[in-house]
Amino acid sequence: MKIQKILVIGGGTMGNGIAHVSAQSGYTTYLSDVKQEFLDRAMKTIGTNLDRQVKKGTISEEDKAKTLSNLFPKIGLDKKFVEECDLIIEAIPEDEALKKNLYDELKQMVRDDTILASNTSSISITKLGAMTKNPSHFIGMHFMNPVPMMKLVEVIRGLATSDECYSIIEETAKAMGKVPVLVQDYPGFVANRILMPMINEAIYALYEGVATKEAIDEVMKLGMSHPMGPLTLADFIGLDVCLAILEVMHNELGDPKYRPCPLLRKMVAAGYLGRKTSKGFYQY
Ligand code: NAD
Repeated sequence: MKIQKILVIGGGTMGNGIAHVSAQSGYTTYLSDVKQEFLDRAMKTIGTNLDRQVKKGTISEEDKAKTLSNLFPKIGLDKKFVEECDLIIEAIPEDEALKKNLYDELKQMVRDDTILASNTSSISITKLGAMTKNPSHFIGMHFMNPVPMMKLVEVIRGLATSDECYSIIEETAKAMGKVPVLVQDYPGFVANRILMPMINEAIYALYEGVATKEAIDEVMKLGMSHPMGPLTLADFIGLDVCLAILEVMHNELGDPKYRPCPLLRKMVAAGYLGRKTSKGFYQY
């Protein structure tokens, strides 16, 4: 099957970036979210990011117009456009129950050969796949943030994922200008298995008063050549997302080394989620 039409579900931090690269790569791209204001915000972000690319000279005004003409924002889901899609990329919040509800809704709408990919950061692809209509056509497609800039896509095979499904996704990721890397289905995959304990440790260092947030970030930037410090990065990813990933790794791997720092829990409870709420470790 050749992928021609893609539906991205969820227009938040990741979904708008995925829709951006999908449309830019020539795919007819539907972008679904639950409210008009979320779609407006997503389309505004895509517009700003395209303008930045034009300014940098990486794309032309014509490319920008073409990308926008491939994009179709939609409130909710409707069988009419869902069944047209060859690939659905789910990028709704990292909440298993929420994803299950969505997959249940999709069961009535998708074609048998449609591939469903989840951008989940940490939930088992095998487990999510078992909730779908066709587990052999389910796969993890883990894009990195910010999607238009970052080359990597971790491609995660669930136990039931077919070879054909894997090859199509590998090819599609390449067609989107990304570098797919095959990863097995274990909590946190590779990227977050290594990144989240580092972010959590940085939060512990702050919590225990080892250094200020600025000092912690500076040490990792200047000492380890990281492009941004771990607390800045956590704000960028979203503190709720970081907490959810650590919870999954802690529960599924059963090792106390993954337990989320109490300060991270407290900040999420307060609604200080990072850039997206204008307040996290830093003020935006
Ligand atoms: P987000 O909260 O920024 O965006 C989620 C969006 O989904 C929101 O706009 C919300 O309104 C929408 N939504 C919720 N339920 C929906 C539904 N039923 N139908 C359509 N839209 C719905 O979340 P995010 O940071 O973009 O994360 C999305 C997924 O990507 C999560 O699984 C997360 O773990 C993963 N991920 C996040 C990052 C990151 O850096 N933020 C990186 C890689 C992967």
